[in-house]
Amino acid sequence: MRWDNFEVEKLKDIFYVVRNTGGANICLCLKNDSALVVDSGYLPKASAALNDYLRKSLGCEIKLLFNTHYHADHTFGNQSFDCPILSSEACRRQMEKGPSSFWSPAEIAEAMEEDPDLRTEWKELRITPPTMTFAEKKEYDFEGIEVVFQKVGGHTECSSMAVFPGYETVITGDLIFSGVYPTLLRDGNPAELVKALKDLARIEADMYIPGHGASCGHDILYDLIDYWSCLIVQCTELMDSGMPRSEIQQLLETRCRMRALEYDERKHTRNIDSVVDFFWTRMV
Ligand SMILES: [Zn+2]
Repeated sequence: MRWDNFEVEKLKDIFYVVRNTGGANICLCLKNDSALVVDSGYLPKASAALNDYLRKSLGCEIKLLFNTHYHADHTFGNQSFDCPILSSEACRRQMEKGPSSFWSPAEIAEAMEEDPDLRTEWKELRITPPTMTFAEKKEYDFEGIEVVFQKVGGHTECSSMAVFPGYETVITGDLIFSGVYPTLLRDGNPAELVKALKDLARIEADMYIPGHGASCGHDILYDLIDYWSCLIVQCTELMDSGMPRSEIQQLLETRCRMRALEYDERKHTRNIDSVVDFFWTRMV
């Protein structure tokens, strides 16, 4: 369905996803004229229009915005939501630290140079850290619905998810990419990511709403566990054999592709870089 310029998908029960606000999914839970927003996109003006639509056209009070992690495509819209913002402590620390590798002034300037839309969107960008935090886990009551926010790490040190036990639903942030090639950057921890995915598979849930792509079921978890586990096992075995780094990277390109998806060379080789870098820096 459409809300003004927004493409919105209604999932089951209280869950909605706004798809066209730049990069990551913005997830919404709507009940009793109240909204819980998960991640804020990376286009502040688009996010401001969404904030207005929720308040004025739908008559919703926005109770809380939750950031699953600090990456730009999940938090650059924070400034546009006039409500409390929650994340893990580690996430707020990372956002307060700036410039990080994601929003150094040089990188922002470069992105704006390449994309005229971002020039307009980020003209008055203000990195807006969360106003409330939790260390590992926080239970929250959203209009009588139990929500558990939990830090699990993996995709980033601070990556967290929102679990809705009564609805068998988890909003996962970038622990899951569904229908699009997954991404791990150098701030990720592949071993923790596999552990987080295995923990997710043990949760009683029939719907996972990922940071990127369509909502999905359990199957995707096993594809992702296979993919990242293959990269980890192959990488560490080849390192133990004394093979030079460049040769390891070449071998991993063909040995561990994400089977169910069209091959994305740019993302796959970036993932290899991140995994090899992670274990290489721990070895020396
Ligand atoms: Zn991310």
